Amino acid sequence: MHRFGVVLTAFALVAEALPAQAPSDFTAIRLAPILAGVSSARLEADVRTLVGFGTRHTLSDTVSETRGIGAARRWIHARFDSLAAACGGCLEVLDVSEVYEGLARVPGPTNVVSVIAIQRGATDPDRFVLLSGDIDSRVSDIMNARDSSPGANDNASGVSAVLEAARVLSPHRFRGSIVYAALAGEENGLLGGQTLARMATELGWRLTGAINNDMIGNVEGIDGVSDTVTVRVFSEGTSPVESDSARRARRATGGEVDGASRQLARYIKATADRHLPDLDVWLIYRLDRYGRGGHHRPFADLGFPAVRLMEAHENYTRQHQDIRVEGGVAYGDVIEGIDFNYARKITTLDAAVLASLSWAPGAPQAVRLRGAVQPAATLSWQPPPDSASVAGYRVYWRRTDSATWDHWEDIGMATSHRFDGLVVDNWFFGVASVSPDGFSSPVTTAWSN
Ligand SMILES: [Zn+2]
Repeated sequence: MHRFGVVLTAFALVAEALPAQAPSDFTAIRLAPILAGVSSARLEADVRTLVGFGTRHTLSDTVSETRGIGAARRWIHARFDSLAAACGGCLEVLDVSEVYEGLARVPGPTNVVSVIAIQRGATDPDRFVLLSGDIDSRVSDIMNARDSSPGANDNASGVSAVLEAARVLSPHRFRGSIVYAALAGEENGLLGGQTLARMATELGWRLTGAINNDMIGNVEGIDGVSDTVTVRVFSEGTSPVESDSARRARRATGGEVDGASRQLARYIKATADRHLPDLDVWLIYRLDRYGRGGHHRPFADLGFPAVRLMEAHENYTRQHQDIRVEGGVAYGDVIEGIDFNYARKITTLDAAVLASLSWAPGAPQAVRLRGAVQPAATLSWQPPPDSASVAGYRVYWRRTDSATWDHWEDIGMATSHRFDGLVVDNWFFGVASVSPDGFSSPVTTAWSN
């Protein structure tokens, strides 16, 4: 009893020490039904259906109702339609298609058809966050469009995560818009992502994050490690489209590990640390795996913040392989290679991140940092377009050699903050917007926008 009393006293002291201007934090309450709602059984059912189309190769049959890429994309479209019906039409479902030809992996004219569903935000509908997975599959020969190509993990697992996130999130109303995307033509050249990224640019979407799921179900690694608690988040450090002046400023003041994609990755890690005790995010400081691609890349290419979520330990005997037994080893991307409870954890993280970003206001803009040859640093910024949704700003600082935002303070509605006693040379600084219910935008730094 006595020890219990001590704990309570300590808790009361901590509670009293919270800053007076902190927005209320209802994030755990608002996210609870989302965190509890993702179903491993639903993920498994969707992967089974996708595997059941035999092959989803980009050059496979488009006419059959039971086999090939056409049947698969029509089934995905119908799934989004039924989710839309269940939420009173809250999803706009559309095919986004483009004919590609004359490529090494797409020689003849081929209609590459992605399927997307848009859930419009209530107060900031022009701000978007996108969740994606890939419809198509392949075996050993990339041009083999006939043989059985289950693509259970690569990447029916990712598409199933997108469908499940849409099912769990569509009953809720968010401030910003969400795009759920089943992208086509990944294996044959990241084609569907290129089409959609270009469309986002042409439509003027404020796309604040493209979160790609590519292989989220394998837990037995080729490296001999079995890991059901870690997810990798790949992000590049700087934007490939930064201007020469931005590059010169970055050279002078640092920030090569602080581009907008990296801030999105840190946001995902912070969300997992706060709300998913059974999943650890492993930040990988790379655009993608060594010499390999994924569908977040076309979005990053156009300057949108973009990351890839992926299992921590891959098994190459289960990727891009003809189904066979060779030297006693079973090859093939079959459903038996997926741990659906692990896929559920990563899908839960997807849903929690989408909800948090979309309930949050937009991030602060035009962030500036001053403080050379002074004993204090001063950060200033402009409010986001939906400033009416901002209940306060949260400033962050960390050592230049730290991977995460280790220190923060809620400072109320001011649009500048002086960090007394912090010499600007030794720290990185950033700021986020916080909603009345406590949802935070990603951190904007002085050099990441
Ligand atoms: Zn692949």
